[in-house]
Amino acid sequence: MNVRLPVTLAELFAALEEPGARVLAGGTDLLVQLRSRAGAHGSQTLVGLERIRELQGITATDGVIRIGAAETHASILENRLARSRLPLLTAALAELGGPAIRNMGTIGGNACTASPAGDSLPPLYALEAEVELASRQGLRRMAISGFIQGPGRTSLERGEILSALLVPQAKGFDLHHFEKVGRRSALAIAVVSLAALIRRDPSGRVLEARLALGSVGPTVLRCPEAENLLTGRRLTLASLKPAAAALRRAVTPIDDVRATAAYRRQVAGNLLLRLAVLA
Ligand SMILES: Cc1cc2nc3c(=O)[nH]c(=O)nc-3n(C[C@H](O)[C@H](O)[C@H](O)COP(=O)(O)OP(=O)(O)OC[C@H]3O[C@@H](n4cnc5c(N)ncnc54)[C@H](O)[C@@H]3O)c2cc1C
Repeated sequence: MNVRLPVTLAELFAALEEPGARVLAGGTDLLVQLRSRAGAHGSQTLVGLERIRELQGITATDGVIRIGAAETHASILENRLARSRLPLLTAALAELGGPAIRNMGTIGGNACTASPAGDSLPPLYALEAEVELASRQGLRRMAISGFIQGPGRTSLERGEILSALLVPQAKGFDLHHFEKVGRRSALAIAVVSLAALIRRDPSGRVLEARLALGSVGPTVLRCPEAENLLTGRRLTLASLKPAAAALRRAVTPIDDVRATAAYRRQVAGNLLLRLAVLA
């Protein structure tokens, strides 16, 4: 296996032209994947992102936070701007893996792995984030929901990388809530997760609700029916129950080693009911 460590984007794009070249960020998904196929990657070239400055940094412009794709989960969690402006995202990253995984794994790698259980994804869908993609041809942008096409599938073209996440600050939203249910309390992949953003008027009536669920279908799911059912209501058990029923109808979970589809469907609704306690 060859490893290249370019320091500029031009060098990176040149390295990616080698046959079989693959992007290596923190390696916490890729190396596990390659090792499970031992022997099948003798001539593989891995192109590391860690020395490229354009893929790092967290900055804010006009209410949009730009997070370089090679920022690790730990560096985002330590960043004051991210913590104060994107509490929904940092709540989710605090639950991703354990300290070693958060030190190595990157937000770009989490998005490109495109797992329905990726912890950064429900917050990024609820925040209506965009991705910035870079190639020799220049930059293009698209919604995260358009970027992720299915488990392990994204809109990346050959020779193209994810360069940044562009995440709008959820101004005016007073409830930012992330909850993940796993098989155990640490180092667990989500069995179901919910990211909820709620904006209310001074009397507590919902002006806007955004709900994004992980691990209940091939991609993260937004549920407009449940969001609309909450609009104009206060967050009580009575108003949340019909919305929870809508969520349970909308999800398309599968049975796997971690949980049954029926359990996931039930928990998806239960996570929403919990908002009654937080409200
Ligand atoms: C023990 C363990 C526990 C874990 N727990 C969790 C968990 O709780 N929650 C969770 O969500 N994940 C978990 N993961 C998965 C993993 O750590 C995350 O998905 C992580 O964010 C991946 O980032 P990375 O930088 O390591 O990606 P890498 O492994 O380097 O790359 C992953 C894939 O994305 C591609 N890629 C990476 N960056 C880019 C880019 N900028 N542009 C184009 N392509 C790119 C790579 O080519 C590869 O195909 C766990 C993994 C392990 C091993």
